[in-house]
Amino acid sequence: MSKRSATVLALVLALLAIAATTLFSVHLARRQGLEFETGRVLGYARDVLRSSDIAADQFVNAVAMLEAHRSAQPCSDTIVAVMRGLSLISSNLKAVGYVAGDRLMCSSLGKFAEGLPLGPVDTITDRGVALRLDVALEFAGGKRFTVAERDGYAAIVPRDMAIDTTTRQPNVLLATFTPGTGELRSSRGAVKREWIDALGKGTETSFVDGTHLVAVVRSKQYANGAIAALPLANLERQVRASEMLLVPVGVVAGIVLALAILYFARMQLALPAILKVALRRHEFFVNYQPIVDLQTGRWVGAEALIRWRRHTGEMVRPDLFIPAAEDAGLIRLITARVIQLVTRDVAGLFERHAQFHIGINLSSEDLHDEATIERLRRLAADTRASAGNLVIEASERGLAEPQVAGAIVRELRASGLHVAIDDFGTGYSSLSYLERFEFDYLKIDKSFIDTIGTGAATSQVVLHIIEMAKALKLKIVAEGVETRAQADFLRERGVQYAQGWLYGKPMSCEELRAGLAAGNAATAG
Ligand code: C2E
Ligand code: CA
Ligand code: CA
Repeated sequence: MSKRSATVLALVLALLAIAATTLFSVHLARRQGLEFETGRVLGYARDVLRSSDIAADQFVNAVAMLEAHRSAQPCSDTIVAVMRGLSLISSNLKAVGYVAGDRLMCSSLGKFAEGLPLGPVDTITDRGVALRLDVALEFAGGKRFTVAERDGYAAIVPRDMAIDTTTRQPNVLLATFTPGTGELRSSRGAVKREWIDALGKGTETSFVDGTHLVAVVRSKQYANGAIAALPLANLERQVRASEMLLVPVGVVAGIVLALAILYFARMQLALPAILKVALRRHEFFVNYQPIVDLQTGRWVGAEALIRWRRHTGEMVRPDLFIPAAEDAGLIRLITARVIQLVTRDVAGLFERHAQFHIGINLSSEDLHDEATIERLRRLAADTRASAGNLVIEASERGLAEPQVAGAIVRELRASGLHVAIDDFGTGYSSLSYLERFEFDYLKIDKSFIDTIGTGAATSQVVLHIIEMAKALKLKIVAEGVETRAQADFLRERGVQYAQGWLYGKPMSCEELRAGLAAGNAATAG
């Protein structure tokens, strides 16, 4: 990709990041607003229903009490006294009475010689309660009541009692209904009967209908239902309130993300130039990570790992800049620097520790480059390395062109350098690769070591790799060993060497030398 199109791509991605997080925050605000308002409208509907259910409870209770006095005349003084007591203890009932022939004959309010006409029954619920939904009682000054009746016993409830309970929100529509028949009993505002149908067989539902957010609920115990509806304007207000909070957060998150994208893109684009400057300024150095004998825990070698400390003090990870250097065709310069640094760092080391080895990572380009081979030969001479003191680590990717790489590997081995196949198992190579090249070591990639003891399906792979390496008489190094359990597992399976945080993190060359001086090195290879 050209630098120009990469810049354009980064800009587009940055803008997309801002757009995406902003849209997401708007979406989140909508959802939050809807959830909040739905909770509220359901709350109103439940309040109304609770009020109806309490009245029904009290009615059932009253009927039971009156039935217990069946032996007395329904409108005798004793019974009227019981009725008074009942209406006193029943908060949601205005009066309790007795009905005969569509007339209220007596009640907790007194006896009516001729009876007060109640009009015909409007509905009989599926629980056998006869409901008169709109009864005007003469002495009540035109106020309307609902009269529930069973076996002649009746409860008188103000028609709008349930929907009067919730008055916190002036523009909320409220209604009560009879679930079986789908009839509205009382309502406040333009409640639509069809809303009841949305409930189906359920006990609660909520939905948006044109201009309103609607909640419909039904009692599990009684033939009571309730509706509450809020104008959508409320919802919009709520959504806007959530947006005020969430959208700025979304935009800021988007900008941060965009800046990060641009920063990394700039880094990536400018990297070749920055790398060249870094080479000139000597910003690279090498750390060494011990490789141990799994039987004794002693150091048998160390892998040279490049480190980059920028002039700003920032450390850049090799898995970020090595691939970029490979892409930019700069890896050979980096490898040359590593070889130079190792030459200096290990001077005199092999005289004192004849069995010790230093591993050096090579990339694909290095393995196809005579100059690198020449530098490695010079390294061997300058450090007085004997056969096996220097080990080349080549990953499977690095051996992509087996013809050329094969010849170079043979040349290197002929010069006394040993060769390890690195990150084994992560590339595309197969058994044929292992047979074609003459390797000395096989390094099992950390990703396989991580699966040990996890029971994952891939945890079997490590066993196959070990068997394969044994069959080919390769020495095995397990990479990234972090736990005792992993080390024990590997040792029991005959793996000779390991490298990982359990034994030591990459360290400076001074620390490596100090460790060797302290007797960490294995004495026999
Ligand atoms: P690699 O060759 O597989 O190196 C091993 C990596 O695993 C190192 O990461 C090492 O620090 C890390 N490691 C070792 N033991 C453990 C452990 O127990 N736990 C964990 N989590 N990590 C562990 P590092 O130094 O960051 O290097 C990353 C990669 O960069 C190397 O992978 C190698 O591919 C590349 N690299 C490093 N130095 C050079 C170099 O001089 N030349 C080239 N061409 N590539 C290099
Ligand atoms: Ca390596
Ligand atoms: Ca490796």
